[in-house]
Amino acid sequence: MKKILITGGAGFLGSHLCERLLNEGNEVICLDNFFTGSKRNVVHLLDNPYFELVRHDVTMPYFVEADEIYNLACPASPVHYQYNPIKTIKTSVMGAINMLGLAKRINACILQASTSEVYGDPIIHPQTEDYWGHVNPIGIRSCYDEGKRCAESLFINYHKQNNVRIKIARIFNTYGPRMHPNDGRVVSNFIVQALSGENITVYGDGMQTRSFQYVSDLVEAMMRMMKTRQEFIGPVNIGNPNEFTMNELAEYVIRLTGSTSRIIYQPLPQDDPTQRQPDISLAKKELNNWEPKVQLEEGLTHTIQYFKGLLNL
Ligand code: NAD
Ligand code: UDP
Repeated sequence: MKKILITGGAGFLGSHLCERLLNEGNEVICLDNFFTGSKRNVVHLLDNPYFELVRHDVTMPYFVEADEIYNLACPASPVHYQYNPIKTIKTSVMGAINMLGLAKRINACILQASTSEVYGDPIIHPQTEDYWGHVNPIGIRSCYDEGKRCAESLFINYHKQNNVRIKIARIFNTYGPRMHPNDGRVVSNFIVQALSGENITVYGDGMQTRSFQYVSDLVEAMMRMMKTRQEFIGPVNIGNPNEFTMNELAEYVIRLTGSTSRIIYQPLPQDDPTQRQPDISLAKKELNNWEPKVQLEEGLTHTIQYFKGLLNL
């Protein structure tokens, strides 16, 4: 039985990871400050004697014995990470320093939940791990993008300088049950709007693209990444390469919910990436032939079901 620390464990992705790791017979310590996550996401795990929930902020040091650390603590939706940009940077950077210091001290392997945002508004398409990205360092997304880029640098340097065992996963847009209904991300926004009969807000002309990954595929990939040979540290792209425009996504959601909502167009936020699609060749090679199994229609159906329950529909 391994003891595993998950920062940001009460968030959308973290709660699914806690659940899977417990199901596989591990002991899980879930650390969270509940900024965007909530107890509700993990309440079903609280009776498990191998699950521990800790209220703590990763910008402050934390000490515990563990074999592995998954570092997920960080608000992830533009609305939430732009709410207090300085805090977002502190969470990424000081959180990484604190967790890497802990990993060094207890000799744990640590995985960083990095992001496709390190590529910014990419000029290379699809994105491969050797692309350095196209990020505006002073734009409204920079608190998140540059925070995550600095965290990657910290991970690499703790590895090189102090031999800390690290893994860097660059996660592309992921969706599923337990997304925050008000986090402003496109999948949750469209579903909540469609189920409530409100207008569906497409930003810009809706021709920008994203490639959406269902949460169970991501959790599987992160767990495989943690188990890779010690020399393999990444970064590795984890995402579903099927690419859609926001117009296509809106039409999917309308069809699958049977909604009468209509699409309206609103201004495109500053620095909104025009295209995004992962090249997952490296993940397939290093993660034991991993590839996403759940495609958009199936994943959206599960997510719509979840939001219907949440909205009492
Ligand atoms: P989320 O907001 O649901 O989860 C983040 C969790 O971190 C929340 O529970 C929040 O309360 C917690 N947190 C925030 N600041 C903290 C702090 N200072 N100390 C302790 N806990 C703190 O978002 P998510 O989608 O589950 O994202 C989880 C991680 O994965 C994030 O690091 C995010 O950057 C990364 N990621 C997510 C996606 C995606 O599409 N969901 C894509 C790329 C990367
Ligand atoms: N978006 C949209 N309507 C919404 C919310 C988002 O058209 O109500 C667009 C947004 O402008 C972006 C895409 O959907 O082009 C994905 O946005 P999200 O915030 O989910 O993720 P990110 O931009 O971080 O990839």
